[in-house]
Amino acid sequence: MNDKNGSIEIIVGPMFAGKSEEILRRIRRLKYAKKKYLVFKPKIDNRYEENKIVSHIKNEADAISIKQANEILKFLNDDIDAVIIDEVQFFDENIIEICENLANDGKRVIVSGLDMDFRGEAFKITSILLCKAEVITKLTAICLKCGNPATRSQRIINGQIAKYSDPIICVGASEKYEPRCRKCHIIIR
Ligand SMILES: [Zn+2]
Repeated sequence: MNDKNGSIEIIVGPMFAGKSEEILRRIRRLKYAKKKYLVFKPKIDNRYEENKIVSHIKNEADAISIKQANEILKFLNDDIDAVIIDEVQFFDENIIEICENLANDGKRVIVSGLDMDFRGEAFKITSILLCKAEVITKLTAICLKCGNPATRSQRIINGQIAKYSDPIICVGASEKYEPRCRKCHIIIR
């Protein structure tokens, strides 16, 4: 029996919105409160460090890097108060049920991820978790074109705006992303 009140908190937004910074802030508070927690991230995200969450301003926390969502279950035990999952959109869809079960089991679940891809389309995992979450934090970046709040990530390949049909991974191309508002975000079909 578990008498603790579980919940799902989700942090979403485009790239450069400070999602990692916000998740790190919540991790620091769990640490101060002497809570027991586990931090997970998908193995594909090698942005800075394999076994850490690192924000763009270089704050960091240790994280367990996993390939499959159900690997989370191996690390769990009854003492764990909170489970934190970064870049949740990159996991397989089992992650949704795992988050639900953890929250039902009295754990505080904190997930963070992109709500939209570079085309402005919803990521399925984040959109379902947005429905199921008790607490939603939607962050914005600053649009690089006009300075208004940015909700989207513009993808640029070899200096050109990426097309809607461009593959998600372009081998050998120089690629970057820019935060853009709805008005400045361009979709070329
Ligand atoms: Zn703009």
